[in-house]
Amino acid sequence: MSSTPKTMSGILIEETGGPEVLQWKTDLPVPELKEGEVLVRNEFVGVNFIETYFRTGLYKSPLPLITGKEAAGVIVALHPSLTTTTEFKEGTRVAYIADHAYAQFTAVPADLLAPLPEGLSTSTAGASFLQGLTALTFVREAAGLARPQHANPNHQLGVSEGPWALVHAAAGGTGSMLVQMLAVHGARVIGTAGGKEKCEVARANGAQWAVDSKGENVVERVREITGGKGVDVIFDGVGKATFESDLEMVARKGTVIVFGNASGPVPPVDVLKLSAKNIKLMRPAVFAYLATKEERDAYAKELFELLAAGKVNVKVHEVYRLADVARAHSDLEGRKTAGKLVLKV
Ligand code: NDP
Repeated sequence: MSSTPKTMSGILIEETGGPEVLQWKTDLPVPELKEGEVLVRNEFVGVNFIETYFRTGLYKSPLPLITGKEAAGVIVALHPSLTTTTEFKEGTRVAYIADHAYAQFTAVPADLLAPLPEGLSTSTAGASFLQGLTALTFVREAAGLARPQHANPNHQLGVSEGPWALVHAAAGGTGSMLVQMLAVHGARVIGTAGGKEKCEVARANGAQWAVDSKGENVVERVREITGGKGVDVIFDGVGKATFESDLEMVARKGTVIVFGNASGPVPPVDVLKLSAKNIKLMRPAVFAYLATKEERDAYAKELFELLAAGKVNVKVHEVYRLADVARAHSDLEGRKTAGKLVLKV
């Protein structure tokens, strides 16, 4: 660690609250490495809605906190326990999902690192890693859709006879990834989005139908589009505002996957509501699909292949300076964004 400084810039939260509690600091200690950790100099940090939950206190964490869940950058130091045993070395470009990414440097367990293949930039990796892996694991494991080549080797995008899927906030960061992943997996995708412009984004992502959640009756439109059947699977990161309508729109024996709280957490559910249509209800978290190194490596490899092949693209809303993260949070929570928000360190 001789070449790394003792202090760094970053964002510190000392009390929970609005975006104003995200404080820009220039004298934070550079983390000391523990056994098995490497020091990553972050180049691009992804902004995710989960960081707003930690900022507001919806999700609990000890304070003071450097939040941030993902980044891509370069390894600048390794704990001595690793130097002879690891595939990584100083200078290796990596992406990771781990805590404390809103900073110049982050100490990351080597097990959590994904080395970037040649040709994949740290800006693309930092903008796609967490949400790409969320979409991939949710489509595969929560919705149970088969790998495309197993499902139908002759499948052509846009000519789909696959399951009906509804994605809420289909122009958002995770929504954009979900729509594209579902299209790759052969689903017939309906996206909802707040406003006409965002509906265009949802269509560009690959949604065959886009419904304006601010201007249209989503339940009626979904009924029309599916010929009264309803959708086989719903991906809902909006939460409180949309959950009850999900139960109306899902088909008999369909699956409702609630995975976020953008409009607030879903209140406790009366499970009897599920029985009329034998609905499957899930509340997955990406982290639990990436619990083992084998899972992390396999899904990261597949995501990088999809990106390299251009089957999945990253839609960046804006690249903010790390110091401007409060504005990024305000924009995200204010429904002003389409695509991924990224911080440049
Ligand atoms: P997005 O880019 O999707 O932004 C959130 C979007 O939600 C907004 O743009 C808006 O789209 C929609 N929305 C609807 N109602 C509200 C509201 N009241 N307040 C704010 N937004 C609203 O964010 P992310 O992609 O970062 O996250 C999306 C969701 O996915 C979050 O709930 C997040 O927690 C969840 N998530 C969960 C994961 C897990 O492992 N469980 C992993 C990754 C993400 P519109 O205007 O079009 O309606």
